[in-house]
Parts: sequence; structure tokens; C-alpha cells
Amino acid sequence: MTAEKIYPWGDSRRLNSTAGFYKRLFGERVQKLSIDAGFTCPNRDGTYGRGGCTYCNNDAFNPSYCRPEKSVKQQLEEGIVFHRRRYRRSNYYLAYFQAYSNTYAPPGKLKMLYKEALDVPGVKGLVISTRPDCIDDKILDFLAGMQERYFVAVEYGIESCYDKTLEKINRGHTFSKTEETVRKTAAKGIRTTGHIIFGLPGESRDEMLAEAVTLSALPFDALKFHQLQIVKGTVMAEQYRSNPMDFPLFSHEEYIPFIVRFLERLNPNIQIDRLTGETPPDFLIAPDWGRRRTYTILEEILRYMEEKNTWQGKYYEPVETRILYGKE
Ligand code: SF4
Repeated sequence: MTAEKIYPWGDSRRLNSTAGFYKRLFGERVQKLSIDAGFTCPNRDGTYGRGGCTYCNNDAFNPSYCRPEKSVKQQLEEGIVFHRRRYRRSNYYLAYFQAYSNTYAPPGKLKMLYKEALDVPGVKGLVISTRPDCIDDKILDFLAGMQERYFVAVEYGIESCYDKTLEKINRGHTFSKTEETVRKTAAKGIRTTGHIIFGLPGESRDEMLAEAVTLSALPFDALKFHQLQIVKGTVMAEQYRSNPMDFPLFSHEEYIPFIVRFLERLNPNIQIDRLTGETPPDFLIAPDWGRRRTYTILEEILRYMEEKNTWQGKYYEPVETRILYGKE
């Protein structure tokens, strides 16, 4: 019997998973619990823009226990019961401030909400989702101070490395803003993560693959990816209805080899939060992936990697190497 290969990230999975990192850090599985703390979004209320990002419908990913009229404490307590009933039992939780922009409030209010979450028994830390243009030095310093006692991660909506795409989807910020904020967050020692969508209008597959190189050069701890899904109640749903050919949506069959090629080029030090998204069937317009669940697709991706004998970072080249061989 041959010994199982252990990859540099410390386990035998062919990708550097955040789940594996949590296990090593906390000694067991950790469950993220979503919260809707009643934040709004500066890209909706006119501060930076109106109408929001064209693909966005926050109702599509809020679990049933997660409602802004409930307190943060109540949502977390109900979330713990919900997850204990459905999935494997966890003893440790991370409060996931997920809906809208979770740094979009005065510092005093943010501190109060984050503290309320950390006071719930079993909650070991925070994951705070926000926009790269919706965080300042004051909040970053506060989060940096908090992480001396708790696990704290900030998750930025990046979506694309291309300004032409960001404009098309009405993100209201540029990629250079993302770069600036990511570097600043990491420099303060805060766990820095981000979110990318594949299949956005106007991007070729090669451009999407090239994002692996761009993202690899930034100081991310972890990244989360998903295929573009057209969700009911969004601006994009209307655009898709009028011009479906403008949307290079991935089929399930195409996505698996694509994401594996992408991972091969990605910096192996960047952990992978997730590789696909899962919109509830009642909200989903396209693409139809046959109601496959996230975890079954992950198994398919890992099987494909095994068949191809490949792994995250197999073809990753650090920036210095690319410059040395004239590839820049
Ligand atoms: S995706 Fe985020 S930034 Fe964009 S409109 Fe929705 S909540 Fe606002």
C-alpha cells in the first residue's frame, strides 16, 4: 500500500481548502453561521451608486433563520439549532456577517454588533463580508485589535479583475481599489479573503483563467469562487431575458475542467473557501446544473484532479519567475 501524499498545505486534498485550515487551527470542523444584521449597501442607496450590482439579490442566499428583524444573538442561536439538525454537529462556529455591506455603519454600531456575535457561546470569530471601498483605516485598526483575541476575517466582493466587467455589472469600484484595500488589510495582519465570479458578461475563458495570475500576486489568505448564476429579481435577469447570448454561462461539464485549470495556476498558499455557488431552485433562472449540491460538485472536481494527477499550484509561477523568463 502506498502512503497518501501530503501536500504543502498539510493534508492529502489536492487543493488547499479553508475547511482543512480550520481543522488544523481549531482542531475540528467549524461551521459558518450567516447573519443578516440589517446593513444596507452604498451601491444601492446612492452613496456610491444606485440599483446595486446587476447580479445581486441578497434574498437568494439568506438561510431561513437569517432575518434582519431578529437580533444577531437570536440568528446565531437559531443557526446553531438549524445546523445541528441538518448537518454534522459542530462545537465551533464563526459568525458570518454576510448580507449586504457589513462594515457600512458607524464604528460604534459595528463594535456593538460584532461583540454581540462573539458573546454567543461557541462562536470563535467573525467573517465580515463587504466591499473594498466600504472600509477605512479606523475599522481596519479596530478589526486588527480584535483579532488578538478572536479569529477575524474580512471577505471582499471582488467579482472580477477587469474594470470593463466591473463597469458592466455596476460594481461601482475599480480593480485597483480592490488591490489597494487587499494590500492594506493584509498589511494590518487581518485575514484577507475575496470572492470571484466566473462567467460574467464580456469576459473570455482565457481572461478568466488569467485572473489566477493576477489574484496570486495579491496577499490573499483565501478565495471563494462561483459560476455566474442568473437570479430572479435582479437587473441581470432582465438583461439575460433580452439578450441571453451576452452571458457566457458555464455548463456543469465545462466548469469542472475550467476550475481545475484555474487552480493549477493559482498560488498554492491561497486557501479555497469554495468553488461553486448554489442558488435555491426557486430563485435560479440559469444555468441548470441539475440541482447538484456544492459538496457533490467538489467531489467531482477532486476526482477529476485525481484522474489528471494534478493539484492546486501545479503550474503556478511566482511573479519573479515570470519576469525572469520575460512572460510579463
Ligand atoms: S453584491 Fe454587495 S455591493 Fe453589490 S449591490 Fe449587492 S450588497 Fe451591494
